[in-house]
Amino acid sequence: MSPGALLEVRDLHVRHGLVEAVRGVSLRVERGRLATVIGPNGAGKTTLLMAVAGLLPRAGGTVLFDGTPVAGQVEEAVARGLSLVPETRELFSGMAVEDNLVLGAFTRKRRERPGLLREVFGLFPRLEERRRQLAGTLSGGERQMLALGRALMSRPRLLLLDEPSLGLSPLLARETLQATSALRQRGVSILLVEQNARAALRVADDAWVLEGGEVTLAGPAAELARDPRVVESYLGLGGAAPGA
Ligand code: ATP
Repeated sequence: MSPGALLEVRDLHVRHGLVEAVRGVSLRVERGRLATVIGPNGAGKTTLLMAVAGLLPRAGGTVLFDGTPVAGQVEEAVARGLSLVPETRELFSGMAVEDNLVLGAFTRKRRERPGLLREVFGLFPRLEERRRQLAGTLSGGERQMLALGRALMSRPRLLLLDEPSLGLSPLLARETLQATSALRQRGVSILLVEQNARAALRVADDAWVLEGGEVTLAGPAAELARDPRVVESYLGLGGAAPGA
């Protein structure tokens, strides 16, 4: 494992029955950095994230978190500081915002909760204004904030984010990804899976392109944003990096 890597995935294979959705993927997230995996529908991005978090069994390969293998138990992964932000439909829509947040702190001591809540409300004041509102009545962007906030309640060292911009307007998508970037500034390392390649490459440090379950390109995000293959397949006209 390289000295700076907080997460290292080596030769990961994951199957859904007979379909091999992830085929020999290797990647890593350096400490304090934001890494992104982009790729088309069905490329295996969500499958990859779930297997890293221990929510799906692995057919082969190794996942090292801070140098130690993650055996595949999600509770163990969370306790060690690895937290998956699921798609927002996983929120408890019949429960209030604050109760959803408190559920995210299940690995922390009860007396830590007020401080954790304060931190999350500091980052997302909108959630504090709406702390008593039922999660099911939040707007799409607010739900994304709540999903992120809930994951932060376990005070993770690594956040695994599954398509936080899904279904949001371009403006809200950008705001959500900027919030992700703000978390990185606070020292949380991030693995972000996104279909919105343009926005993801803008906020990320390092990037991987996943196609048909395999990594087809990898490198610094700014370089990939200029790579003609990425521009053609994922960014389209006007998609080149700023200044290009
Ligand atoms: P999207 O961007 O559309 O969410 P993705 O890159 O996240 O796509 P995955 O959801 O990981 O892709 O799916 C990878 C492949 O595995 C797809 O072909 C999908 O149909 C298949 N797959 C996913 N989940 C299952 C499942 N539970 N059973 C069988 N096949 C599945």
